[in-house]
Amino acid sequence: MKKDIKEVIVTEKQIKDLCVKLGKQITLDYKDKENPILLGLLKGCIPFMSDLMKYIDLPVEVEFMDVKSYHGGISSSGDIKIRMDINTSVYNRDIIICEDIVDTGKTLDTVVRLLKHRGARSVEVVTLLDKPEGRLIPFTPKYIGITIPKVFVVGYGLDYNELYRNLPYVGILKERVYSK
Ligand code: 5GP
Repeated sequence: MKKDIKEVIVTEKQIKDLCVKLGKQITLDYKDKENPILLGLLKGCIPFMSDLMKYIDLPVEVEFMDVKSYHGGISSSGDIKIRMDINTSVYNRDIIICEDIVDTGKTLDTVVRLLKHRGARSVEVVTLLDKPEGRLIPFTPKYIGITIPKVFVVGYGLDYNELYRNLPYVGILKERVYSK
């Protein structure tokens, strides 16, 4: 896998430091809330969520959703298919959605709306990576690990054709991998 990476843009050490920083911030902000739900969006959230939650020093529930976005085509913007729904009621709950990267913003905008529609008391987003240049709709996650340029990255949960998720860092793929 490593030979396919052109450049590492977020190192293991940086990721660890970002998880500590974000975990502390969330701990402070949610200290008076009752058992918030940390809701991971599969599959990209897995390494980030498992590292981040170790630094949230509060009782939190852990849940997952698997959603697939349809961007463009005949679907209206923000149309998502829920492949696996959250396993508990979100009514009157404080939700922290845990995401690997925000690009167009459509996935999260839709999931946030859905959870609010279901009666969540509050819905915020923590993302390891943010690509603000990719936005097609306005969306600002409350907690951002690091802002990156509009490049396609893999590793630490992020895939290309379902591979590279298990790299311990975030990197840019070599072009020859795409052109194979
Ligand atoms: P969006 O914000 O465009 O609705 O969707 C975010 C999702 O698009 C992420 O959860 C991720 O699955 C995918 N995505 C966006 N940018 C990248 C990227 O640079 N690399 C990878 N592997 N996936 C990305």
